[in-house]
Amino acid sequence: MTTGRQNLARRSGSDVKTVYDVQEIRADFPILHQTVRGKPLIYLDNAATSQKPKAVLEAVNHFYTHDNSNVHRGVHVLSERATRAFEQARLRARQFINAPEAREIIFVRGSTEGVNLVAQTYGRQNVGPGDEILISTLEHHSNIVPWQMLCEEKQARLRVIPINDEGEILLDEYEKLLSEKTKLVAMIHVSNSLGTINPVRRVVELAHLRGVPVLLDGAQAAPHLKIDVQELGCDFYTISGHKMFGPTGIGVLYGRTELLDAMPPYQGGGEMIRSVSFEKTTYNQLPHKFEAGTPNISGAVGLGAAMNYISSIGYEAIAAHEHDLLEYATAQLTSIPKVRLVGTARQKASVISFTIEGVHAHDVGTILDQDGIAVRAGHHCTQPLMERLGLDATARASFAFYNTREEVDALVEGVHRVIEVFD
Ligand code: PMP
Repeated sequence: MTTGRQNLARRSGSDVKTVYDVQEIRADFPILHQTVRGKPLIYLDNAATSQKPKAVLEAVNHFYTHDNSNVHRGVHVLSERATRAFEQARLRARQFINAPEAREIIFVRGSTEGVNLVAQTYGRQNVGPGDEILISTLEHHSNIVPWQMLCEEKQARLRVIPINDEGEILLDEYEKLLSEKTKLVAMIHVSNSLGTINPVRRVVELAHLRGVPVLLDGAQAAPHLKIDVQELGCDFYTISGHKMFGPTGIGVLYGRTELLDAMPPYQGGGEMIRSVSFEKTTYNQLPHKFEAGTPNISGAVGLGAAMNYISSIGYEAIAAHEHDLLEYATAQLTSIPKVRLVGTARQKASVISFTIEGVHAHDVGTILDQDGIAVRAGHHCTQPLMERLGLDATARASFAFYNTREEVDALVEGVHRVIEVFD
């Protein structure tokens, strides 16, 4: 079967941008071709979760139809095939984020589990009374609460890097907060609520000058930006498969070997051991030390397929298309007097958060839904950020490479209708 991707690749030559055919890409996403509430679906909730191309659906289907078995322990053919598919997905992930070694790729449920793993292992081992963990005001709850839990247990202190009103972290304040007490910096790469792209290379540089390791939450970065953990220089990086066109329940924690090697295991069980007796257990080598129990094998296979799919379009083409959508939507929404954009950082990925004067965000979401337009409304799991901005909620449209200018037009019309309803 020829996919829209292959057509694009055939015709693309060196300049992908000029042949970017969003309809060809959309043809690869069966879910997009439906009506909801009698209207064509307009899916603008990609920051919550993204849709899956046929290549991912087929990879998961193929795995269960032909290769399903448990990994690593079997001597029979299916187990060997399943193990190969699973480990190939790890190799693919290594290549995708340019990690130096495959054993630095730990399969987890998603970003949330990646952060919890580091907090409960590296954190518990290295953080003590009076120590500090540095996060930013922009963080998702999943990069706040695990550190709060750790700080509570260890009588350590959570320090927060402030932001300006545009939603950008204040680098000079960050520098001031870094001290000999700082044991880790944990920061979002791209904000799910505002779309801000943080200056993470500089953040890492400044932390490393003081010997402080950095964890980056890449849940919202991987769908939009090329991730190169060596170029970023970070010590840990987390990814959620479902936000980058792969299945739910699978993600990656990247960690530098020397740190992962020194960390205690996260969960105990099968797979993570070398030998077990009632007196003593010795642990497996990386990455298996951190992968207790049967992993999400089909999820890893699907994630590998999603990475292949993204690569077949190319991040350059993705960024160009999404940038166009973002600029187009920003210009139109800012021209509506009652609309206020929330988050106007100079560096932004595909997220537009906004409020409408006199209308609660939940009403915005509900009325848009009547037109088949899916956006998210609420605090987006960033309550402290909302508090800093003096809001309790925003409506958020978030784009993927399969969205179109026509969909932005429909969103803008929808926003006008919301205003009429409340006028
Ligand atoms: N970080 C960010 C920036 C997110 O947007 C999300 C999901 N909304 C998460 C972490 C958590 O990801 P997951 O639910 O896949 O673990």
